[in-house]
Amino acid sequence: MDVTTKGLVLKATDYKENDKLILLYSLEYGKITVHAKGIRKGSAKLKFCADQFCFGNYELSRLEDRFTLKTCDQLESFYALREDVETYYAACTVAESLASYTEEGQSEPEVFVEALKALGALSDGMEPLTVTLHFLMNFLQLEGVRLQLDRCVVCNKTDKKMFLDLQRGGAVCEFCRSTESIPMSARTVATCLLVEEMPYDKIKNLNITLQALKDALQVCNKYISHSFSPLKSLSELLKL
Ligand SMILES: [Zn+2]
Repeated sequence: MDVTTKGLVLKATDYKENDKLILLYSLEYGKITVHAKGIRKGSAKLKFCADQFCFGNYELSRLEDRFTLKTCDQLESFYALREDVETYYAACTVAESLASYTEEGQSEPEVFVEALKALGALSDGMEPLTVTLHFLMNFLQLEGVRLQLDRCVVCNKTDKKMFLDLQRGGAVCEFCRSTESIPMSARTVATCLLVEEMPYDKIKNLNITLQALKDALQVCNKYISHSFSPLKSLSELLKL
């Protein structure tokens, strides 16, 4: 059966002599693996559609859970994402989040839209750390594992001084904290909450320092690494 879906390439790996396996995040089927036959041959016309971040209309032939590439109509190459190292690692953090934490074959249109918005903002030249923070906070929320920082996850109170408690999966207040809870500055909590809620066109007018963004992303990084598996691209981005 032939199917058509909008899709975004998360990554591609070489397969057999001339083929590639494309990990595609598709609107209709969520994360799927697509077998692209003969795509590494010198004469292959469809080479572009295995490039990381290629966004297009993919025509596939489907046999149960197996997808094979027929053709692709590129809608956006997102080539600009490769021209700056910080922008690149921010875009990789988006792709790696989808690759690592979404279910194979499960359509999540809101996640699809959130990822495209993030890549669009990055390719428009928006500050990479801000985009990464906005994407991660919203992605976690859409996946049902929101990083709750506005209220204590134990007693539900809001306090001036909040701590990150990895065992309990969020922020705790002074009263509920344990010896292992990590102090967070009021600025870090405020940065996360502000960037989480605001759409990209409004965030770019905010004046947030790079250090505040890094501190906020470190909180996300600790939470994600503890609750799931570490995001390599995010660690690289934070080292730059
Ligand atoms: Zn509490």
